[in-house]
Amino acid sequence: MDVAREGGCACGAVRYRLASDPLFTHCCHCLNCQRQTGSAFVINLLIEADRVELLVGAPQPVEVPRDDGSTQVIFRCPSCQVAVFSHYGRREVSFVRGGTLDQPSSVEPDVHIFTRSKLPWITLPDSAPAFDVYYDSKVLWPATSLARLEAIMPRARSDA
Ligand SMILES: [Zn+2]
Ligand SMILES: [Zn+2]
Repeated sequence: MDVAREGGCACGAVRYRLASDPLFTHCCHCLNCQRQTGSAFVINLLIEADRVELLVGAPQPVEVPRDDGSTQVIFRCPSCQVAVFSHYGRREVSFVRGGTLDQPSSVEPDVHIFTRSKLPWITLPDSAPAFDVYYDSKVLWPATSLARLEAIMPRARSDA
């Protein structure tokens, strides 16, 4: 059963609602995420961009350089500048920052990634797989999530 979750920035100028459960939830220990958050890792809820319904406000896109030379678009509250979600390559999928949920405890990571730069004092749970770098979504994602992803990538499918 899908759960609708709400969240927002610190000042309340941005509020959002997730129309369904995420596709998959990452806990990313990469150096980019550590730098962006000033913390040990980020929790990203991957979800179709159109399922992030803005209730209040309009997060502003900020292009942020990454170590590999690419940029990541991070959407921030225009007032308090808290980052609420970001886009990596494809715009169809938003990466919602788990700490901005009203109830961050309502999600748990499905996978830990980039553990090669995990801070040494963090012990990972046995409940989720962990990878030095990345993983194969076709192997790890539930079939329902893979179908949802395919549904928002119609061009790739028709070209195949
Ligand atoms: Zn704000
Ligand atoms: Zn990362």
